[in-house]
Parts: sequence; C-alpha cells; structure tokens
Amino acid sequence: MHTLTEFVDICKRVYENGYVAAYDGNLSMRIDDDRFIITPSGKCKGEIEEDDLLIIDPEGKLISGTGKVSTESKIHLIIYKHRKDINAVIHCHPVHATAFASIGESINRPVFPEVVLALGKVPLCRYSTPSTDELAESLLPYIEYSWAFLLENHGAVTIGKNLKGAYYRMEKLEHAARTLFIARSMGREKTIPLQKLKELYSIAESVYGIKIDKRNRLDF
Ligand SMILES: [Zn+2]
Repeated sequence: MHTLTEFVDICKRVYENGYVAAYDGNLSMRIDDDRFIITPSGKCKGEIEEDDLLIIDPEGKLISGTGKVSTESKIHLIIYKHRKDINAVIHCHPVHATAFASIGESINRPVFPEVVLALGKVPLCRYSTPSTDELAESLLPYIEYSWAFLLENHGAVTIGKNLKGAYYRMEKLEHAARTLFIARSMGREKTIPLQKLKELYSIAESVYGIKIDKRNRLDF
C-alpha cells in the first residue's frame, strides 16, 4: 500500500498532466475490505493535502475526515465490491480519451502492442447521469476483466493492484487516445494483423509476465 504522501503525489500528477480540470476527478485506495481512502468532493487534485483525504466504508459513509464524500465514490465502491484483486481506482477526464468517449467510440482496436497487453479492451460504458447508481452500474458488464473504462460523454476510469498501477494505466490510456487522434489526422491507423496478435498473446506471459483474461483479448 502507498503512503499518504505518495497518494497526494499521484493526485498532483493527475492534475499537472491535465487529466482533470478544476475540482474534477477522484482517486481512491483500499485499506482493507471495510475502509477506503478517497479524495474529497470540491477540491482541486493539484491542491490536495494529506489532511484532506477521507476514509469511507463500502456504502460510502464517512468514517473519518472533514470533507464531503463525492457522489462519484459509487464508481470506486462498485469496483472494490466486484474486484477483490483491485486496491486502487482513478476517475478523471483526460482530454483525448474523453473525446473518444464523447463520440461514442471505445478504444479496443489492436494498434499498439503495449496497449494491447497493458489495457486490453477499453470498453465504452453507456451514458448515465452523474451521481446516480446507474453510472456506477454502467461498468458492470466489463467489471470482471477490464483495467480501463471509458464513460460515455464523461471521462475515464482505470484500476490497479496499487495506485501507481492505476495511474500508469490512465497515462497509457490517454497517450494511446492522443496518438490515435494524431494518426487519424494523418490518415487511418493500421491494426496489428490477427496472426501477429495471436503471437503477441502467446508470449505475453513468458516474456512480459502478463496474464490476460480471455474476455479482455482482442483476437476474437
Ligand atoms: Zn467525472
């Protein structure tokens, strides 16, 4: 688990990279099955301090801290409930990834080998009104195997075994979306041929130590 200093440092990186504007976005980390650290509502991630962080229970009730619990905490809690292997969740609005989400396009074409391995499919979760249970539930069809999600007309969510892992997935997602955007201004991206894609999956575990859930593969 990360220290609170590392947690705050990742909040600042999210803001400084432009993955959020103003008070947007939220980051969280699992302490145990009953307690989660999460950023408060209405506070810029670039200005977060350790004392601002909240501890909430699995229902989103405040256990400690003085700030307000974000309505978007529901997105975090539904992930912790369904993925016991996950200890960190980041939700933000990175420009290029959110642009894909706003034209209704998921990022699940096999274009970059490292993205294929690190993220797999990035599904588009159907648009739902912010703050509702429906928004959190829009992740459910993909929750068991995805590592990154686009929220239609809204933003993105990445998850990890720790906060750094979730952060690097967000960085990778936004970088892939930005590269695809530039590629499309020059023509149309080529995808990795099916045979080469199968070859990539066949070495994923032995060369890169990455175990990929069948449902997250792009060679079907
Ligand atoms: Zn949001």
